[in-house]
Amino acid sequence: MDAMPRPDHLFPSTVIGSLPRPQWLRDVILDRKAGRLSEEDADTILDRAVESALLLQERAGLDEITDGEWRRESYVKVFAQRTRGFQDDLVDSGLPYPAAVAPLEYWQPIVADEIPFVRDRTTRAVKVTLPSPYIIGRRMWHAQHSAAAYPKREDLMWAAVPVLEEEIRSIVAHGVDTLQLDEPWLAVLVDERARRREGVEDVDYEMALCADLLNAVLPAASGTNTAMHLCHAHFDHVHGSRGSYELILPTLAKIDVGTICLELATPDAGGLEALSGFPADKRLGLGVIDHCDTTLESAELVASRVEAALAYVERERIELHPDCGFAPSVQNPIDVDEAYLKLRAMCDGAAMARDRLG
Ligand SMILES: [Zn+2]
Repeated sequence: MDAMPRPDHLFPSTVIGSLPRPQWLRDVILDRKAGRLSEEDADTILDRAVESALLLQERAGLDEITDGEWRRESYVKVFAQRTRGFQDDLVDSGLPYPAAVAPLEYWQPIVADEIPFVRDRTTRAVKVTLPSPYIIGRRMWHAQHSAAAYPKREDLMWAAVPVLEEEIRSIVAHGVDTLQLDEPWLAVLVDERARRREGVEDVDYEMALCADLLNAVLPAASGTNTAMHLCHAHFDHVHGSRGSYELILPTLAKIDVGTICLELATPDAGGLEALSGFPADKRLGLGVIDHCDTTLESAELVASRVEAALAYVERERIELHPDCGFAPSVQNPIDVDEAYLKLRAMCDGAAMARDRLG
């Protein structure tokens, strides 16, 4: 991992992945899903839309960008929609996600085919994101529908590993600057109430499983910068869990990843004190924008958040991003202009922090 050079200034700015989609674009994605719009016609529209997502991020001043995940219905469903073995959303069965119903099989690029389009249209560094094997199992294993193919949830998680490995090799071949694995569940585990709600009985087992799965897929990204993102999950400006990272820091230290991207702007993450145990061999992705707060951060506030983190992690190891993707799913109603203004404040705050440090 980590063969490509990082930006040559302090506090490089990146995104976690998703940008809010304008309403008309949400309609395109949902029309595609419902069959009212062909894949080909949707792709033609999405190509034009994604150019705007790229420009938004460039104008905000970001060092590293994604395609806004504007082609995806959600950060995790994209895996099911591009891999054989899943049945589409099972809302009637109480599962608002696809479920694995047959052995998984690599079928077509999951996200790798997004990369050349972005590369051709920007000189900024390019990030691409994939869901982790653990979140795939957490979200898309359903006892009633999946047990015939995968008796246990863990079986599905491990079955996702070779599919992700093949996809990651393809991503690396396309030449991204950062491959990020999205692992929101690790941060959900810090919340005892969320653990009870989700039926987690042995948190030590779950943390170890999550780390083992990540370490199984990450070697496929050899030669590329790697990152993982964890968060407290959110919808419509409200987090799904809360709590500091102390419980999971020993697990994070065991994951062979370059950058760990943490939500730290939100008070729901419990403050910066947990960073005293942050692994010494990894870069810190510092969340400095609270996407759950509709109040626009000032550059001054962003700079002060950076300066506060310097008490725990040296400046050369810090990258900046919003706490999470603004809209991990198409249904998440966050305003696109709000996201733009927050990203711009983040980049202005990074410049302010650099200036102050000389
Ligand atoms: Zn997140």
